[in-house]
Amino acid sequence: MPLERFRVAELTWPEYDELIRDTPVIVPIGATEQHGHHLPLGSDAFHVVAVAEAAAQISNALVAPVLSYGYKSVPRSGGGEMFPGTISLDASTLIGTITNVMNQLMTDGARRIVMVSGHYENSMMLHEGIDLSLRGRPADGVKILNLLWVDLIPEELIIDIYPGQYPGVALEHAAFLETSIMLYLRPELVHPERAGTEIASLPPYDVHPQVPGFVPATGSLTRSTGATAEIGKRLIDEGSARLAEVLANAW
Ligand code: ZN
Ligand code: MN
Repeated sequence: MPLERFRVAELTWPEYDELIRDTPVIVPIGATEQHGHHLPLGSDAFHVVAVAEAAAQISNALVAPVLSYGYKSVPRSGGGEMFPGTISLDASTLIGTITNVMNQLMTDGARRIVMVSGHYENSMMLHEGIDLSLRGRPADGVKILNLLWVDLIPEELIIDIYPGQYPGVALEHAAFLETSIMLYLRPELVHPERAGTEIASLPPYDVHPQVPGFVPATGSLTRSTGATAEIGKRLIDEGSARLAEVLANAW
């Protein structure tokens, strides 16, 4: 049964205290990162919160406040750190933050935690933060899941809706899928006429220090041609339904 109020930030401490031991809690993790000339910097945080909140409206779960900063953007999956507005955390900062948040949730009594990320580069730092938070803790029935929400979408569905050949999740930065999602969630923040049309042709290695010109100048790694709010809705609905299944079955 969905809770009437599921956002942790909107509860008083006694209300939270009453729920936290027996209710799964979703912890959404985003990023602040360039998303081309046509999508907002907060895209990864907006879509992960949308999926977390929609899942909480169809299952029994709390949603913790989103962390809107993520691990550094990598050119071959996010355009890189050189773009203004990409505001990222060092790995050690992100790991420490995740460890702190997990420790506090578990100290409060949380036993079922689902960390959901909307930003590809976060994944291993989140694993590490969780791992460190569990180190030295007695095994007292705690289970923490860590997932990237787009991984919940079956690849057949993406291939089916994709115009042309699906380039894979890494190149799909600020492109067809994310543009569709943002057209559905926050159409007033999307400027399709400014979108890049270049398709990145990247070598099979990263370069440090990062140099301009390695990825298309707009910051989009491939096209967003054909993006629609309807496709965005389908992706968010599918992601939320699958997350709700995880919440119902993973314990
Ligand atoms: Zn993104
Ligand atoms: Mn990202």
